[in-house]
Amino acid sequence: MAEKLTDIFGIDVFDESTMAERLPKKTFAALKKTIENGEDLDPQVADVVANAMKDWAIERGATHYTHWFQPMTGITAEKHDSFITPVSGGKILMEFSGKELIKGEPDASSFPSGGLRATFEARGYTAWDCTSPAFLREDAAGVTLCIPTAFCSYTGEALDKKTPLLRSMEALSKQATRIVHLFGDKEVTQVTCSVGPEQEYFLIDKAKYLQRDDLIFTGRTLFGAMPPKGQEMDDHYFGSIKERIASFMKELNTELWKLGVLAKTQHNEVAPAQHELAPIYATANIASDHNQLVMECMKKVANRHGLTCLLHEKPFAGVNGSGKHNNWSIVTNTGKNLLDPGKTPHENIQFLLFLSAVLKAVDENAALLRMSASVPGNDHRLGANEAPPAIISVFVGEQLEDVLAQLIETGEATRSKQGGKLNIGVHTLPELKKDATDRNRTSPFAFTGNKFEFRMVASSMSIAGVNTTLNTIVADVLGEMADELEKAEDFDLAVHDLIKKTVTEHQRIVFNGNGYSDAWVEEAERRGLPNLKSMVDAIPALIDEKTITMFERQHVLNGVELHSRAEINYELYSKAINIEAKTMIDMVSKKYIPAVIRYTKSLADSINAVKAAVPEADISVQAELLTKSSMLLASAKAALKKLQECVAEAAAKEEGKEAAVYFKDVVFPAMGELRAPIDELELIVDKELWPVPTYGDLLFEV
Ligand code: ADP
Ligand code: MG
Repeated sequence: MAEKLTDIFGIDVFDESTMAERLPKKTFAALKKTIENGEDLDPQVADVVANAMKDWAIERGATHYTHWFQPMTGITAEKHDSFITPVSGGKILMEFSGKELIKGEPDASSFPSGGLRATFEARGYTAWDCTSPAFLREDAAGVTLCIPTAFCSYTGEALDKKTPLLRSMEALSKQATRIVHLFGDKEVTQVTCSVGPEQEYFLIDKAKYLQRDDLIFTGRTLFGAMPPKGQEMDDHYFGSIKERIASFMKELNTELWKLGVLAKTQHNEVAPAQHELAPIYATANIASDHNQLVMECMKKVANRHGLTCLLHEKPFAGVNGSGKHNNWSIVTNTGKNLLDPGKTPHENIQFLLFLSAVLKAVDENAALLRMSASVPGNDHRLGANEAPPAIISVFVGEQLEDVLAQLIETGEATRSKQGGKLNIGVHTLPELKKDATDRNRTSPFAFTGNKFEFRMVASSMSIAGVNTTLNTIVADVLGEMADELEKAEDFDLAVHDLIKKTVTEHQRIVFNGNGYSDAWVEEAERRGLPNLKSMVDAIPALIDEKTITMFERQHVLNGVELHSRAEINYELYSKAINIEAKTMIDMVSKKYIPAVIRYTKSLADSINAVKAAVPEADISVQAELLTKSSMLLASAKAALKKLQECVAEAAAKEEGKEAAVYFKDVVFPAMGELRAPIDELELIVDKELWPVPTYGDLLFEV
């Protein structure tokens, strides 16, 4: 197996070694310069690369190519063109020019632009991102050469998720390099960020999925009573993997390995039917592209196994939802992880400066970070009774907490707590070295050894936005710090003062306790930390003056681009809730109410039949059930009417913020009122008559 794996890994990727093999030396060198140092690409180089790429793809059976891009829908988009060019004699040639590689021109008008379209033309361009390798995708349509691209408008505004991410990586590189140079490390010419996203997902039986309109239209169940067993036994987490799931995972891994995705870890998650996949970290841009491929492959492979993969943040009420842990670190081109504290962090001044920069960035932009992790489905996790809370805080662990406390108290840190040895109490077991800090599972933003783990990220979303935000806010603080330190006469003294000042000013963001407790909610409020329960409340953070100035200063997004993103998010929210509400109305009208009527009729029939047969027989059970179900039926009907009215009213609201607020404050609660009687009915109505598979069927019969 091991040998085979090395044979298939990256086989579908036009990666560096394939390029080295197939490109003339000079072309390869020129392309590498562009990839590594961001130098402009020579059109002649592009022609040669395109031709080699095409030959490689055709040898592997490709007939088409596509510019693969990531519009602001959060998923990927593509338009396929075949390589054919007619030649005389009714024949064709397979051609692909440098121009076709570099630039595409899909019509931008049908992608969300949040007002950018009204101001600018519909024309949109895709531009080759040579920093993320092209790959082959095989499906029923055949083999397609996919070229990762950025997507922008005629006037250069970013219409996608990739462009800002690339810009933010440049910003972070520039500012972090300035800092590293100040510490005397002049060898460093570039800094990149590494990202490892852990992806959670559910797998359910496809035949059952197809019986639930809510799952089909909205990705989550809008109704469903809790089964007798949920996740309370903790027997699914890390449990042995069922055969059917194991064969899915095996095929998924193979697909991902062929695409060069470093799929590494897989396990069952907390909720029944929930699982996780973690790749080995990669440069943010590639990690982001790869995560899109992971999500896409999960869905495709699940289908082949008679399963459906749910990426929604909260497919089932009452059990854990899904998220994505975004592990993030910054590394120099000389291979040094700038977030690595070493064994004695108190002596690592450069690390302490980077740490304090992250603390400041997170504290000053908590609402913005919350926003960056927001999609409508994530509101069911953040701010509901689930991990992690909507309040952003940073976990630094015992060791660093102690170092920070020394800094705040005396202005100087003189010692670092050490982990020591772990005593298991059995002589035959190996002696294990303990980490200096235990894990914390409840923090939304946790320092985990040599990286930060941002755990709020939504399972279904692109990780591009989150990393764009992280890179930008940290770049901005580093820039400010560099400005100050570059002017300093005594660098050592200045850096010392700066760390102390920054840590002192932003210590309120550090929290090492239980993030799920009510006490923390109160404590956070005392500290003045924002607690934004809904995405709608977080959207304004995108367009406040401070944010716009910062993003413009770092050349990541301008005011117009940020406003368009806020608009898109309001619309996204309204549309999602609108679809959910309409799906509920449809299911209640056409499925649940008819089923309950059938049930009440069967009870009434039974009462009449029993009475006729044995007039003195006890019919109290049927009568009680009939009374109860009729009552619940009536409340369901009333709640249905109310929801219908709310949805009608929503249509009259002005698009954007006004509509989104209405959906959140009025429509969403009305949905809850409709769900309640239906879920109660599910517990009494004859299972044979219940029109859809239940939570028990969906979660335990995979
Ligand atoms: P867990 O959080 O489940 O304990 P790990 O610590 O092994 O798992 O790592 C989780 C993810 O973090 C993986 O995708 C891993 O590749 C990634 N990761 C590890 N080190 C770094 C780093 N320095 N920078 C960014 N991501 C990292
Ligand atoms: Mg983790």
